[in-house]
Amino acid sequence: NYSIVVHNFNAGPSILPKEVFEQASQAILDYNGTGLSILEIGHRTPLFQEVVDEAISTTKELMKLDSDHEVLFLHGGASTQFFQIPMNLLNEQETAAYLDGGVWGKKAIKEAKLYGKVEVVASSKDKNYTYIPKGYAIPADAAYFHYTTNNTIEGTQMHAIPETNVPLVADMSSDILSTVMDFNRFGLIYAGAQKNIGAAGVNMVVVRKDMLGRVTRPLPTMMDYREHIAAGSLLNTPPVFAIYVCMLTLRWLKQLGGVAAIEAINNRKAGLLYDTLDKLPIFRPTVAKEDRSKMNVVFVMDDEALEKEFLAECKANGMVGVKGHRSVGGFRISLYNALPLESVRVLTELMNEFALKKA
Ligand code: PLP
Repeated sequence: NYSIVVHNFNAGPSILPKEVFEQASQAILDYNGTGLSILEIGHRTPLFQEVVDEAISTTKELMKLDSDHEVLFLHGGASTQFFQIPMNLLNEQETAAYLDGGVWGKKAIKEAKLYGKVEVVASSKDKNYTYIPKGYAIPADAAYFHYTTNNTIEGTQMHAIPETNVPLVADMSSDILSTVMDFNRFGLIYAGAQKNIGAAGVNMVVVRKDMLGRVTRPLPTMMDYREHIAAGSLLNTPPVFAIYVCMLTLRWLKQLGGVAAIEAINNRKAGLLYDTLDKLPIFRPTVAKEDRSKMNVVFVMDDEALEKEFLAECKANGMVGVKGHRSVGGFRISLYNALPLESVRVLTELMNEFALKKA
């Protein structure tokens, strides 16, 4: 029961549920009636242990994880995972298979090469990553196969889990918990929290225990997943507030009905926006239709002056974060879990009006 004054389509950090902002604000002033701020409670107190426990158990519940999988909340953003993963999973003489489906995947490939051999099984770089490569073979002896489930910058998304016996490692930073999938099929899942699950400063790692302990190189304690598992994500002082915001966001998702419930809403949001784009020739979606992302919708207009004009209209109507990534141009509309359908309605109405005016 609040009126939306700003429609936040930012790609990340991005919108979170309003009640999460309210609860987090209250917790800064007085955490659960303790007279203490969440920012001043010790991370080894029962007060914070409850927070970590609920964040982990809610993740397990939402993802329907089996007992082979562990959930960790670690520092360093998804970019740290680009190197922490090969450091923990890839011996120097071994090969890891990578899919080059976007700018973020490319960065992951660069880091993996520091620790072992990398085979890029397919790439869509030839067409500026506007499609998801298909029909590639994953070498059966690869230590793992890494891919990005949703390409945040380019606006493409993998709509199925690749069929392979090689352990799957996925960067789910921009679509984690937005759609139902069999999370147990993954050897390792990671995601920066700042889009679908919480505040910047923490990332979620879900790892199957049998993936660990295979590498021969010595691992710094803070880089070793096994150490974090043993310490329950409390190896050192964790990003307390960021984990708290994750816990609140996960709790919100659970109360909403879980991943299936949010997927239904996400389908409506993406459906409305893509239908509008397909109907109005003034806007041109940039990616292959079958690979369209339900989280980041990318489109351009063929006239730069019109783009500027539409951007100004968006701004005048309280919409933020609509400008495309500098590498693609045009527009990028992010439809993360917390974005209300109402924001998409307002945007598509503006698009309809704009197209009519320019017809
Ligand atoms: N991977 C993907 C798919 C992303 O969208 C991003 C950030 O936008 C990253 C990795 C990098 O995340 P971080 O800034 O948390 O390191």
